[in-house]
This record gives sequence, structure tokens and C-alpha cells, in this order.
Amino acid sequence: MDKKEILSKFSADPERYYMVKLFDDEKFERKSCATCNRFYWTIDGDRINCPDHSDDTYSFIGNPPTKKRFDYTQAWKEVESFFVKNGHTSVNRYPVVCRWRDDLYFTIASIVDFQRVMGSKVVFEFPANPLVVPQTCLRFKDLENVGVTGRHFSSFCMIGQHSISNSHGYWKDECVDLDYRLLTEQFGVDKKEVVFVEDVWEGGGSFGSSLEFFVNGLELGNAVFTEFQGDLSNYKTLDQQIIDMGAGLERFAWLTMGTPTAYDCCFGPITNNLLQQVGIDANNELLVTYFTKIAKHMEQFGNISEVRKNAIKSAGLSDEQINKIITPLEGIYLIVDHIRTLIFAISDGALPSNVGGGYNLRMMLRRIISTMDRLSLKFDMNEMIDMQIDYLKNTYPELEKTREDIKTIIRIESGRYENSKLRMEKIVSKLNQKPAVDDLIRLYESDGVTPDYLKEMNVISDIPSTFYSKLSELHQSKKQKEQDQVSLEGLPETELLYYEDDPKEFDAKVIKSFDKYVVLDKTSFYARGGGQEPDHGTIEKFEVVDVNKHGNVIVHELKNGIPKEGSTVSCVVDSKRRDGITKNHTSTHILNSSTRSVLGSWVWQHSAFKEEDHARLDITHHSALTNDEITKIEKLANSIVEKNMSVTIDNFDRGTAEQKYGFKIYQGGIVPVKSVRIVSIEDFDIEACGGTHVKKTGEIELIKITRTKRIQDGVVRIEFVSGGTALDYTKQHDANLIKKSAELKEKTELREKRRGQKQELREKFPILVDGITQSKIGTNIVDGIIVDMTDPGKPNFCSTTSDQYDEFFHISLGEKLIEKDPWMVYCGVFEDGDKVRAIIYSGEQAAKDKKAGDIAKTVSEVLGGAGGGNQRFAQGGGKDKSKKNDAIEKAKTMVLGV
Ligand SMILES: [Zn+2]
Ligand SMILES: [Zn+2]
Repeated sequence: MDKKEILSKFSADPERYYMVKLFDDEKFERKSCATCNRFYWTIDGDRINCPDHSDDTYSFIGNPPTKKRFDYTQAWKEVESFFVKNGHTSVNRYPVVCRWRDDLYFTIASIVDFQRVMGSKVVFEFPANPLVVPQTCLRFKDLENVGVTGRHFSSFCMIGQHSISNSHGYWKDECVDLDYRLLTEQFGVDKKEVVFVEDVWEGGGSFGSSLEFFVNGLELGNAVFTEFQGDLSNYKTLDQQIIDMGAGLERFAWLTMGTPTAYDCCFGPITNNLLQQVGIDANNELLVTYFTKIAKHMEQFGNISEVRKNAIKSAGLSDEQINKIITPLEGIYLIVDHIRTLIFAISDGALPSNVGGGYNLRMMLRRIISTMDRLSLKFDMNEMIDMQIDYLKNTYPELEKTREDIKTIIRIESGRYENSKLRMEKIVSKLNQKPAVDDLIRLYESDGVTPDYLKEMNVISDIPSTFYSKLSELHQSKKQKEQDQVSLEGLPETELLYYEDDPKEFDAKVIKSFDKYVVLDKTSFYARGGGQEPDHGTIEKFEVVDVNKHGNVIVHELKNGIPKEGSTVSCVVDSKRRDGITKNHTSTHILNSSTRSVLGSWVWQHSAFKEEDHARLDITHHSALTNDEITKIEKLANSIVEKNMSVTIDNFDRGTAEQKYGFKIYQGGIVPVKSVRIVSIEDFDIEACGGTHVKKTGEIELIKITRTKRIQDGVVRIEFVSGGTALDYTKQHDANLIKKSAELKEKTELREKRRGQKQELREKFPILVDGITQSKIGTNIVDGIIVDMTDPGKPNFCSTTSDQYDEFFHISLGEKLIEKDPWMVYCGVFEDGDKVRAIIYSGEQAAKDKKAGDIAKTVSEVLGGAGGGNQRFAQGGGKDKSKKNDAIEKAKTMVLGV
């Protein structure tokens, strides 16, 4: 059965599904719309059409049906005081990032606050009954309508009126009575103007009949009477009857203000401020006409650009009026709407990125920037954020705390977009035809090119209406869900000793053993979960290599056989391994809160992994960590270790834990059970967690971050060690440091020594050269250098194998000697590492007969290597260090001929 069928089924029995006491008391008539046949309830005897098809549709624009005017802030105060006065508890809004559901990124309706998924079942958990909540909801499906229609928002405040029908709460009669009185008594709407339309609502696995209520054609809210579970073709009655009334706060404000659009009265002074900056008068009669037409046409035309075209035509707007008023106005509305959504999302810990829900946020910011660029609007982003928060904090004071963090994230993300523009320009210049919707999606998916940018660049004139809904389908709807593969039907729940006395040695009964698996009646082996790796150890003589949880049954994987079913086995948990893992787990909690307090409120645990000797924590953060940040995080974490704080574990009813500590407890993800285990490190860190923990932080001794890395857009990985491993790591690290610095010192000293020697040489060089060249005929020794002088007109020979001279010396000396004495041949032989090298110079006269290259060749042969060069300069060498003197002798024979 589809929705239409079930609606006609419900409408066929109005007494059962739609009749309420109010209709009887106030003499409401049930009518069928003359245009669409839908059934509705009214006290206006003359009405013939449903609100969608009446002439009074949107007649409140420019002519509000109430005496008092209430903007967004005031409208909530009115609603809240009405419900509180009528026995409701006013509950603070829940985060817009839906941390308690793993099938939603963002909170899309107020009832979502109170839905918890357990297995395939949705259960309702109310912190009070009845209650009212101003729930900010994010919806990205109709982005192309935002700013254009006057009533579409990417985020809005859903007034949630919720009740469970029991001794505290109420059912249909009281719900509809309250909603009627809210409109007529609190807001002063004429009774004749209120119309209830029969409908059906389905969502989150349950459904029921509903009554939508309208004033002047504007749908203000929908009271859903949830009483069935399942889908429309296969359902059963729920144990509880739930009132799920959701109304749009923005619409209440709009109705009483009668402004051309809802945007004019729901963002506080910011809209007017921006309009003034551009010079548009929003109270223009023309706008009233235009936006009334837009509203009326919304039902008539399929897509927004058609609606717009027709409204322009029937309002008789000129091109100039469109370009000077309507287009910039739409841009400003879009900007203020998108910024408000970003403020809520970032404040609640979401980051713009290219994955998951962050995707929509990036898209929003890029739309803001390209809209400003396209319309040449020069608005200051920080100023706009400030104006919004100044206004919103009247209803949502918590936004004040994250004001600066929001600015930081938007600044960084805007910078990224600006930086990517050059690349986008190149991609766009290569497009050779007008892109279709799928091309647009691909362009954004793979290259980050937004359709707004293409519009700005005049590549496309309009953004196809299906673009955002298609994109939203791709990204927003479902998070990945892991499925449990193994089914162990009929086995009793395993008693978890690690949550009790946690004995490391215990006896247990084998309930089932198969393949390599064993199920016991009770166990102290921690099963893999929450990023914590499983315990190892032994069951009898068999090694436990893995432990996993399947529902409430723990399955141990053994090596080399399994014990018999029904037998009693003695079990030993490897306590050294458990110890390491436990320290790493508590350290993960400490690091998580440390990073948040060092980096900013947007930091959430993305995932974590805790092994015996290493662990990692992935956090949501916009950039790679700097060394300074790492040092600060490590310092803060270790100060918590030093303070030896108590780690306490308490079990709470889930609702109580959420109310007491907020949704920050879900760092490790959702908890699919009614009782939540809260692990507190005093008031430094409080998380819902099923892992094992130390009793005092001092037991951890030390936390050492070993590596950090930006592993994906918006996620940074922190690898770390703790306890003994951290101490070993630091010791090793220190030892390496000492070794490295010793090596460095040695190198520096050697370099210093050389520098000194060179300086010394430079000073004594002229004397040495003079000493050599002025030697008497025969063999002389000058500073360890042997000089053989012959008769004038014949080659002289000078050589050394002295260890005190290096390459620099030989080259300097050789050059100088042959310059002073053209009959001189110089041969220097020296050790260089594991080699022997030779440097040969032959003066201009000597070289005519005794070429340096020939000498080098011969000398190198003696040394067991090769060499060569020209007649003036040559070099060579070999490996045989014992042949240094033989080599010199050979050279001397070649030069002197003796
Ligand atoms: Zn109708
Ligand atoms: Zn944990």
C-alpha cells in the first residue's frame, strides 16, 4: 500500500483516524476540496477548497492575520510559554549533527531527537512527557529553492511538540486542542482562518494519520499520531501512541509579520543590514506582489526556474527590476540562510569536507562565496557570523561558546576554495559543451567545481533543479553500516567477567565448540569492540588468537584444536597484553579531550584503534598538525597522567546519560543499548565506552605521540604509545638523539680542525713554497716533504706521503710549486677513506718530457688502480695502501731517470 492508498483508507474512517474532541466542541465541518478532493476540517461554512487551492493562499503577505508581530526569537518565546503553561517541559535543542543515530548525519526532524535504533527497531525515549523543543533541523534536498521561494531554508527551527499517550502525556484530542489554542489564543489568529487537512505521515519505521494545520494557505505544522510500526504494506500497532507534532517556527514568525518572505523576519538585523549595504528597500510593494505570486505558483509549476519566470511575468517586473532588486535579494537570502546552517553545524562539531555529511557543508560555503563573487557583493564573513550569533543566542545561548571556532573553520575553508579556483578555471576552460546534470555532479565530485561557480563563469545559466537532490541522495542519506555475519541463534548470553571482577584466570563451561571456535558460559576475554583489540591467552592447552562479539554471545577463536562441548575448562588471559591495551585505551580518551582543548571544539573522535604496544586516534580536524600543536597536546595529556586522576565507570539509563553529559559522550559512536557505560576521567573526559580502563591515570606513566598524519579531508591520525612502550620509545629516542648529537659534534670538531689547519697552511704556505723551490741541489726534507733538486735546465721532483696533508693541500702546493719553478714535478700521495689517491703537477718546462697524465697512469698502476689527466695536472689512485712509497719511487724514477 502506498501513501495515497493508506490516506484514502484512513479518510474512509474519519471517526477512527481524524475525529477529535475539538472538532465536535467547535462545530468543525469536514469537507472535501472542490479542486483536489482532499478532506479538511474548518468552521468556515463558505470555504470550498483546501488551503492549497483557496483564493486566500498567502494572503497574509502584506496583510498579517494577527494583531501582534513576532520575529523568530519572539515567536519561539510565545510558543514556549504557551506549551509550558500547558504542562510541557521545554527541552533544549539536540545537536544538528545526529550522533545518536548511525543512519543519519544530520538531525532532520524534532522527533529524531527521541528515536533510538536498537537492531531493526526504532524506540522512543523522551526526557520528559509531554515536551516541547526548538529543534534546528538541516535539510539539503531543496537547496535550489533557498533564497528564491521566500520560505525554503537549508536549516529551520522545528517546533517539536511531543507526547507519549499515558498518565503523563496525551493523545489526539489534547494535541489538536493545544495546537488550535496556540494559533487562536496565543497568536490571535481568527478561528475561521484555521484549517486542518487530513494526511498520513511515515518515517523512521513508524507511521500514523496526521492533521496538517494551515492559516491563510500557509502550512504551519503537522500533528502526526504515530501508532503503527513497519511500512505501509506490512505493519503492526506500536506499544505506545506517540504525538509527533512538528511546526515551522519561521512560518509562525512570517505569518505574524506578513513580510514579503520568511527570510525578512527570521535572521534578525542581518538581512536588513546586508540589504542596506546593497541599497535595496525590502518593504517595497513590488516585493509583496512578486513573492505572493511565487508562493502561489509553487504548487502549479514543477521546477523553480519556471515558477520564477511566471512570477516575474505576472508581477510585471522589468529586466532592470530583476537585475537590480530580485537577483541580489535572492543572493542575500541565500547567503544568510547558508551561514546560519554552517553556524549550527560547525558549532555542533561538523566540518566541511569531501566526505559524508561534511560534503553538504562545503557545498554551502562555496555557494556563499560564488554568490558573492557573481553579484560582486563585498560582505565581511566574520561580521555576518557575529550578527547571526548575536541574534540567535537569544534562543540558543550555547552558540556563544563556539563563536570564534566557527570563524576559524570558515576562514580556513574559504581560503581552500580561493586556492582551488585557478585549478577550477583550467577545468572549466576545457569544457567543450554545456554540461548535463550528471556532468555537473561529476565535476563537483571529482574536481570540486560547484554549479554556482559555473553559473558565475557563465558556463550554465541555471542550476538544474535536480542537481541538489541527486547530490543529496548520493551523500546525505545513509551512513555505511556494518552487518553482523555470524548467527548463533539460541545460545545464552555470555556472562562478561571483564565488566565484573575481571579475573585473569577462571574456569568456565564450554557451551558450544565448532571449527576453531568456542563459546563459554562466561568469559574474561575482552571481545574486539570500540576499537579495542581482543585479549589473547589460553583455554586449556589451546591458544586464544581472537575474540569477537556476536550479539550477546562471545566467540573465542583457538589455535591447534578446541575443547569438548560440555566440559569445564581453565582459562588464562594474557595479562601483559591486556595491560598494554588498557593503558592505550585510557590514553585514547585523554588524548581525545587534549586535542579538543588544544585545537578547537570541532574535534571529535573519528575512529580509534588500541593494540598492546601501539594505538591510534583519528580525529576530525581541518589541517595537518604542527609540531607546536603536537607538543601542546602531548604536554596536556601527560599533565593528566601526572595528576593521577581517578577513572570511574558508572552505568546510566541512556536518556539520563544524554541529559546529564550531552552528546559529547558518543565519541566512539552510538550505543545500541538502553544502559550506557560512562567512563569518566574526573571532569576532564567523559565518554560512553565499553572498553577496559586503568583505575588511575598515573598507571599510564607516559603518553608519547609517535606520528601524526592528515589521512583524509577533515581527518587527522595520531599514532601514539603509552606506559612501558612509551618509556622504551623515549629511551630509544633519547639514545638515538645522544648518538646523533655525538656524531654531529664529531663532524663539527673535524670541520673546525680542518678549517684551523687550512688557515695555518695559508699562513705558512709562502714560506713552505719558498723553502722548497730554493732548496740546494740534492735531496732535502722540508716539513715532511722530500725535494730532489737537480742541475738547472733539468726536471726537479718533489713528493710526500705525509698523513698530515689532504687533497686541498696537495692541490694548493702543486699549483704554487709549478708556478714558481717551471722545472718542478710534484707528486702527492695520500689516503682518502679506504682508498689511496695521487695528485700530480708538472711545470711548464718539465711537462715537455714528463707529462703529469703519464706519471698519474704509472703511479695508479702501482697502487692497483687507474688514473689520468693532461700534461700539467693529473690524478689517480688505487686500493693498495702498502704501495704508497713504491708509487713515489716509480714516479721519481720516471722524472729523474735514476
Ligand atoms: Zn485542494
Ligand atoms: Zn573508549
